[in-house]
Amino acid sequence: MATLESLVFDNGFARLPESFHTRVCPTPVPDPYLVAWSPAAASLFNLDPGEMNRPELIETLAGNRLLPGMDAIAALYAGHQFGHYVPQLGDGRAILLGEVKNSRGEGWEIQLKGAGRTPYSRGGDGRAVLRSSIREFLCSEAMHALGIPTTRALAIVGSDHPVYREDEETAALVTRLAPSFVRFGSFEVFYYRNQVEPIRQLADYVIARYYPELAMLTDPYPEFLRQVGLRTAELMAAWQAVGFSHGVMNTDNMSILGLTLDYGPFGFMDAFDPGYVCNHSDTGGRYAFDQQPDVAAWNLTKLAQALVPLMSVETASQAIGDYPQAFGRAYLARMAAKFGLAPDGEVVPLVMDALQLMAQNRVDYTIFFRALCSFDSSEGASNAPLRDRFLDRPAFDAWAVRYAAALRNQGSNDAERAAAMRRVNPKYVLRNHLAEIAIRRAADHRDYSEIGRLHQLLLRPYDEQPEFEAYAAEPPDWARQIEVSCSS
Ligand code: AMP
Ligand code: MG
Repeated sequence: MATLESLVFDNGFARLPESFHTRVCPTPVPDPYLVAWSPAAASLFNLDPGEMNRPELIETLAGNRLLPGMDAIAALYAGHQFGHYVPQLGDGRAILLGEVKNSRGEGWEIQLKGAGRTPYSRGGDGRAVLRSSIREFLCSEAMHALGIPTTRALAIVGSDHPVYREDEETAALVTRLAPSFVRFGSFEVFYYRNQVEPIRQLADYVIARYYPELAMLTDPYPEFLRQVGLRTAELMAAWQAVGFSHGVMNTDNMSILGLTLDYGPFGFMDAFDPGYVCNHSDTGGRYAFDQQPDVAAWNLTKLAQALVPLMSVETASQAIGDYPQAFGRAYLARMAAKFGLAPDGEVVPLVMDALQLMAQNRVDYTIFFRALCSFDSSEGASNAPLRDRFLDRPAFDAWAVRYAAALRNQGSNDAERAAAMRRVNPKYVLRNHLAEIAIRRAADHRDYSEIGRLHQLLLRPYDEQPEFEAYAAEPPDWARQIEVSCSS
């Protein structure tokens, strides 16, 4: 177990040439306090949990001091935002403190989001508010527990320092962890500046560290691009299967490692609506739920373009050409598993028709799949608890007859299937209203207990937790008024 003094820093990204980042120290905040922390995230770099109580650590996570060995920087990147290229982004409020090595030799970058202005802040204040920090912390750790690739969150530190959005709020910092925060936009910035050498340097850096199996290829770049596409396909399949909308799929929010990155106005599906737009600012619905796989494909073309200086246009487009199939395969596998069926052609119409019925009847996505785990496939079974969720009962009955037949065809055993399905259909997800309750208590009453409770609950999303039954229910009526936007 490591103490603050025994952490070993490596700082690979900071060692890249100056063109990739700017050295900048976090701006201190007054009187920081620990709002929440994740023991599982701390264990990623062997941090002794006892260290979380030390004032020195809280000061570090507030950006008020650096630990020996840290080398603080803000990274440069650009990106396509809502379809338009924006040349100068970069970390406007995230400061990479350093990269710590764990006992297995893995590097984890430690980043503070909300640590104050950087040269890339443009008009912004470099801060994050408590509200959005709670959402990022909870969702990062919940996604990981769901088995979905994501950046992680170690802690939220708050301060009474005022931050002005639509109203006055208070500042908070999320400590994020990831092997790397490099984005598609980290490559794009150099492409649009006609700088080939940094593109190659960054590709070599990412390949050597995160795609080491490609490093021995004579020409690793096409395969690197292909692998990014495959990881992205897996990520999109995972999002679609669990009903997760990211909300702001700009290319600067696309991880080169296929991680869920930059939690903002995300949302988990309640009543199933394929065109669900979780981001209140996304008036055109560009990042609607059912658009995500295609948006990822479009984003990959932007990455491919940025890598064209390293390969021919044909090679680049070939390299991302596997994405649609890879997504299709991964999505089918996940959806088939959610229905307890083998991923063959027969399942496609069953899945499509179930989704259509759910949409027509506005059935809750998470509740449907959890209830489906207990489906009785014997002839004539009514499956009332599930059936009662549909207004159009005859339509459900017709589907259920086909589903039961498919299950019997595959020789499915109800009890075994139920157990397997409960491992892929979560009971608990971070619904907007659950996060909102935790946020209200924290912001209005300095009561952080609900954050801790949600964090604990969402560590075991697939387990029945009878004392938390209410957390698996449909959203209350007031939840319709919740609006999440880019303001954070
Ligand atoms: P996002 O939509 O959160 O991914 O942010 C887009 C870009 O704006 C990123 O480069 C952020 O670092 C930057 N940014 C967002 N909020 C702020 C802020 N309050 N101050 C400075 N930069 C910000
Ligand atoms: Mg971002």
